[in-house]
Amino acid sequence: MTITQPKPTPSIPDIAIYERRESVVRSYARSMPRQFTQAQGVWMRDDQGGRYLDFLSGCSTLNYGHNHPVLKQALLDYIAADGIAHGLDLHTDAKADFLETFEDIILKPRKLDYRAMFTGPTGTNAVEAAIKLARKVTGREGVIAFTNGFHGMTLGALACTGNASKRAGAGVPLNHVAHEPYEGYHGPDVDTAELLERRLADPSSGLDAPAAILVETVQGEGGLNAASPAWLRAIAEIARRHGALLIVDDIQAGCGRAGGFFSFEGMGVTPDIVTLAKSLSGMGLPFALALFRPELDQWLPGEHNGTFRGNNHAFVTAAAALRHFWSGGEFQADVARRGRLLERRLDAMAAEHGLSTRGRGMMRGIDVGSGEIAGAITAACFARGLIIETSGAHDEIVKVLAPLIIDDALLSAGLDILETSIREALAVPYGVAAE
Ligand SMILES: *Cc1c(COP(=O)(O)O)cnc(C)c1O
Repeated sequence: MTITQPKPTPSIPDIAIYERRESVVRSYARSMPRQFTQAQGVWMRDDQGGRYLDFLSGCSTLNYGHNHPVLKQALLDYIAADGIAHGLDLHTDAKADFLETFEDIILKPRKLDYRAMFTGPTGTNAVEAAIKLARKVTGREGVIAFTNGFHGMTLGALACTGNASKRAGAGVPLNHVAHEPYEGYHGPDVDTAELLERRLADPSSGLDAPAAILVETVQGEGGLNAASPAWLRAIAEIARRHGALLIVDDIQAGCGRAGGFFSFEGMGVTPDIVTLAKSLSGMGLPFALALFRPELDQWLPGEHNGTFRGNNHAFVTAAAALRHFWSGGEFQADVARRGRLLERRLDAMAAEHGLSTRGRGMMRGIDVGSGEIAGAITAACFARGLIIETSGAHDEIVKVLAPLIIDDALLSAGLDILETSIREALAVPYGVAAE
């Protein structure tokens, strides 16, 4: 199958309004300088007649593709009936339906007993709520996060983020977080869970018992490092032994991306707190949750709040997504199968060039050695009609975040483009691909 490539842009697209009015802080738009107009399923379209296969999926916010017809219809019907759009934290039929659906389809079958806290609508809001609650409940200040972890851009979450250039934007000291080595950080022979245990058990190590240990089971922005079940269980045990809460940040790896609805399913751990956002609404609408064990629900009413905790449009599409994709096991099985297809194709590309792969489920990437080469590859992909981005400490991992609903033929077609673009970039010294 071939993908209709965008025609060579006849004229430079007019980006004057962005140059004139939008802050230079914008980033993705720089590597994809087009004006996008429509999106459906796995495709995005621009105003020059270009069509792009989307292997970025809003950084895993569009796991079910763009404008999924079932979710779109649920939202259109709700708006047409003058359903509540914004409701602070008032009881609404949309919120009740979401909570009941979440309880029936997600929590009960997994034997999980969590309270759901509607935080502000972005991922970083959920992380802030999670660490704030852990500090309140334990009376401790410190949080242990991991090398290459990414948790958001507001001060508390940013302090937990590894990336120095992101942290530098804070402008104030980011305190009370220790960044400990993630699994594999010191190579395959060093057990970093054992290192952490030794430091916490040693009263002279300088590392105090924290309020929480905050971890991604697959590091989304930090390079797709995937934790093993054994390492994750060891971290959970360390948290328990030292009176800290285990927070799994499932904002990117959850909602099916790494396999199950929660990324930690089948790994033998039950986190004390879980954060969800990105694909939770299923349609790209802002919606985040902090989930925690009922005993941890020690907030005073209103002690933590936010104007946009009641995005009822998101409740409607989220409930529709749970019913449509998660009420049986077929979707998850299909995603698992497609994840193996992705794994085989990426492993073959890596083997051809002596490279390595990372990740789990439909959250995988290939380490091409440098950000410069990775950038040349993603640019070459874009010129061929494939939207794809990078990840990792040096942006050296080309990361595939295809929609989970993509059919096998289109997944293969997109991976063909990636394969060709990698060959092309690696054929040129220093990865400077010919335009
Ligand atoms: C994206 C992300 C966040 C932050 O979410 P925002 O909606 O951008 O605030 C936090 N944690 C992880 C793991 C993420 O991938």
